[in-house]
Amino acid sequence: MKKHNFYAGPSILPEFTVEETAKAVKDFAGTGISVMSISHRSKEFVAVMDEAQQLFKELLHIPEGYSVLFLGGGASTQFAMIPYNLLNKKAAYLNTGAWAKKAIKEATLFGEMEITASSEDKNFSYIPKGYSIPDDVDYFHITTNNTIYGTEIKEDFDSPVPLVADMSSDIFSRPVDVSKYALIYGGAQKNLAPAGVTFVIIKNDILGKVDRKIPTMLNYQTHIDKGSMFNTPPVLPVFSALQTLKWLKDMGGVEEMHKINQKKAEMLYNEIERNSLFRCTVENTDDRSLMNVCFVMDEDHKDKEKAFLDFATEKGMVGIKGHRSVGGFRASLYNALPLDSVEALISCMQEFEKK
Ligand SMILES: *Cc1c(COP(=O)(O)O)cnc(C)c1O
Repeated sequence: MKKHNFYAGPSILPEFTVEETAKAVKDFAGTGISVMSISHRSKEFVAVMDEAQQLFKELLHIPEGYSVLFLGGGASTQFAMIPYNLLNKKAAYLNTGAWAKKAIKEATLFGEMEITASSEDKNFSYIPKGYSIPDDVDYFHITTNNTIYGTEIKEDFDSPVPLVADMSSDIFSRPVDVSKYALIYGGAQKNLAPAGVTFVIIKNDILGKVDRKIPTMLNYQTHIDKGSMFNTPPVLPVFSALQTLKWLKDMGGVEEMHKINQKKAEMLYNEIERNSLFRCTVENTDDRSLMNVCFVMDEDHKDKEKAFLDFATEKGMVGIKGHRSVGGFRASLYNALPLDSVEALISCMQEFEKK
């Protein structure tokens, strides 16, 4: 039976990425050896790294003066690396969920913290509005897509201080005006590549402003200077990331992908609204994520949650159980998830309603 993969991360990747990676694991670029076994200094792999960085810049229209890095350690290491490199005295953070909180926790190790606004009062089910970004801080940090709660900041806004964004789960899902950001980062395992590589888009001139000494590997400058090849990069995930970027370009880039993503999300949100069994946990439609759709069974039908999960699993739905801090269901609609998977989930919801 066909499986429909709604996992939040690691998550579905394009068939093309999986196929090309499988081939390269056996024979990489006609070398007769595996991509796992070739020197990262070989001309074949250097070409992969260069092309991946170049396509990143092309697809996101990254302006001059920025570098693209592929590092290890996950987005979680960035939670510390960012303040290490950028926080001299004080930073401001928007608290929109569990990942934001983890980022805040790390930053407090390095300086003063101002929580500019928070949605914790309603279990992070909305995006705070009407706050003003302080102008006496070293940077302002946001999480554009809150993977666990299904909320998303969908617009790039102006900030009086350098803007730093965790885009782990919505990178490449929509066009981004990179010039509004000083730094964008994320784990690749949501929308780009297998786990093991972390992307960082960094404006070169924001560095060198903190007084502390920074360990070599945690210093962005080290990686910028060496084109992300200071030490051994995560070779296989970088190779896979390149395949996803090629696929994305073929699909018409982030502009086209955004249209498809809007359509997929709209279809599912519409069904949640229409179907009396279900209720979306994010009330404000503007705040609803295009990538992670969170919903629960309506109050009167709470007892049927397990039954629906079993029913959907039988029909080939995978990974739709909600995160424990929200409950219910979460369908992740990343770029690689085909429209027919969304249709299959909707059919499940309709059939279950009839039963
Ligand atoms: C998954 C996720 C993270 C954590 O990523 P790791 O690579 O596992 O450290 C951080 N932020 C967001 C928004 C995420 O979705």
